[in-house]
Amino acid sequence: MGIVSSCNDAFARLRLAPGGQAAPATTAGLAAWAEIDLRQLKRNYQWLRQRAGAPVMAMVKANAYGHGLLPVATYLQDAAQADWFGVATPEEGVALRQAGIARPILVIGGFWLGQEAAVVDYDLATTLPDPSYVAVLERAAAARGVIAAVHLEVDTGIGRLGLSPDQLTATLKALQPCRHIRVDGLMTHFAAADAPEQADFTREQIRRHALALEQTRAAGFAPRYVHLANSAGLHAFPPAATGNLARIGGLLYGIAGDALSPAFPPPPTGPVLSLHARILGLKAVPAGTPLGYGCTFTTRRPTRVATVPLGYGDGLHRIQSNRGDALVRGRKAPIIGRVSMDVTMLDVTEVPDVALGDVATFIGAQGAAVISAEDYAAVMDTIALEATTSLTARVTRRYLFDPTDTSSA
Ligand SMILES: *Cc1c(COP(=O)(O)O)cnc(C)c1O
Repeated sequence: MGIVSSCNDAFARLRLAPGGQAAPATTAGLAAWAEIDLRQLKRNYQWLRQRAGAPVMAMVKANAYGHGLLPVATYLQDAAQADWFGVATPEEGVALRQAGIARPILVIGGFWLGQEAAVVDYDLATTLPDPSYVAVLERAAAARGVIAAVHLEVDTGIGRLGLSPDQLTATLKALQPCRHIRVDGLMTHFAAADAPEQADFTREQIRRHALALEQTRAAGFAPRYVHLANSAGLHAFPPAATGNLARIGGLLYGIAGDALSPAFPPPPTGPVLSLHARILGLKAVPAGTPLGYGCTFTTRRPTRVATVPLGYGDGLHRIQSNRGDALVRGRKAPIIGRVSMDVTMLDVTEVPDVALGDVATFIGAQGAAVISAEDYAAVMDTIALEATTSLTARVTRRYLFDPTDTSSA
């Protein structure tokens, strides 16, 4: 692994960022941690911008998909000159502003009544989940004498957030007299851009979005940003899906492998996060020994059992019980017995020279052996995005970065 600087300003900022987590420079004293390679994050961002040929909105919702909201956003802003940030809620946007993020921020989930003040006060661009929000936002912005920026999300087929054709018409009408709202963007979200058999559906979404843009312009608005693509859209439908801004999460963190079309070559983005815990306890037990809650596993041979301090309280889901693996000394060590809240047991019988303090890697590489976030998620019947997003606050995030990247920040 690369060198982690423990003595430069940017690192201190990451460590001290409000709401950020401790980010020790070494793993000494850590029993379980996620390693976040910010250098890879930067490479991913730069590749994405090149691929999009347009600004890229770094999606940092849900604690930056579990990678740590403030360190990720701070680094992207300072080291990668990120163009835009995307969050799901006003609270996430406020946290970014309070940490010194100055780039434009879009709240893709819009706001609920009572949150419009935060949207306006912290200069957050927002979507409008319903035409009735127009008046609420206009009032809040007028009260402060500012202009609020909105991006209209049109529902072209996903059926969740986004204005239906009728709602778009009503929203444009409601916006007409507003002096304190500027329509900065028109966006839509793909339902199935990763599915080759649904390509016609995605093309229809692109067509409906173009019609909505015509309608918006005809109503007298000139949205500067026209955007459609998530990771799967950018991968499978460029440039039609790119517009002039791309909203990217999964590919930014290098974990979209299970959410991309198999019809196109995998992109060169790499994983940013890995997950590790040390062997805290090691014992030899005879054949016939039951292990863990519910005695769901009984040893069939003399077994070396390693205990690691990572459980469902950390986001290692209980469904990994008797199913998942970790890597120890480059070998697969199966999870045996139930994953409990704080600890998990591994069968390390086949690991030569296994010792206390050895690192068990649940997501990541040890030498040539790899458990990708996609592999780890597949054990749980889910996708890698859910796996990393599930990591809880108890897991210390340890950030790796190149100090020369941030010395000018
Ligand atoms: C989360 C989200 C994205 C990013 O999706 P990825 O598949 O992670 O790239 C883009 N747009 C909207 C509206 C989203 O909710």
